[in-house]
Amino acid sequence: MAIYDISLTISSELPVWPGDPAVELRQVTFIAKGDSCNISHLAMSVHTGTHVDAPYHFLNDGRTVETLPLEALVGPACVIQIPDSVDRLTAQVLAQAEVPADAERILFKTRNSAIWGRERIFQEGFVAIAADGAEWLVKRELRLIGMDYLSVAPFGDATATHQTLLRRGIVLLEGVNLSEVRPGRYELYCLPLKLSKSDGAPARVILIG
Ligand SMILES: [Zn+2]
Repeated sequence: MAIYDISLTISSELPVWPGDPAVELRQVTFIAKGDSCNISHLAMSVHTGTHVDAPYHFLNDGRTVETLPLEALVGPACVIQIPDSVDRLTAQVLAQAEVPADAERILFKTRNSAIWGRERIFQEGFVAIAADGAEWLVKRELRLIGMDYLSVAPFGDATATHQTLLRRGIVLLEGVNLSEVRPGRYELYCLPLKLSKSDGAPARVILIG
């Protein structure tokens, strides 16, 4: 039994979505300078690094992040390997991906996971779920879908994939790093910050298995 930390480390070096503010994490008081303690200041988008999207992100009447059910965020999960040759998770690709029929939480391990150790700038060409792939996924009884780059949807084509999945109440977990994790079954613990009325929240996410 091993614990895999699939969260990205938050720092000013972390790539962010184009147009989002860069991560601002800096120490503001210093014991070394005579302060009584060390304190840091943090400012960033709630969609920074490893995070979840709440329905409100793409649906104006959707629920916000602090109301997401813990039963969706914690429980058995399958890591599914997608071949490196795949650019888009289309319905056709997903039909061949051997998603177990009983899976409630799935994390797709694509060639994206290798980006985290290699690139410090945002990569537009990341692998994502196509609109018809999202339609395929909502026919399953899924509670959570994880992707290993900063969006579930293709760059420049975000709306259809997000809306289809969020309308079903599926929690979208974005920005996981699965490079050290083998495909298979695990227990997922995804605990987003309890941010009031927010469209998303950063999360510490681990797999045990
Ligand atoms: Zn997001």
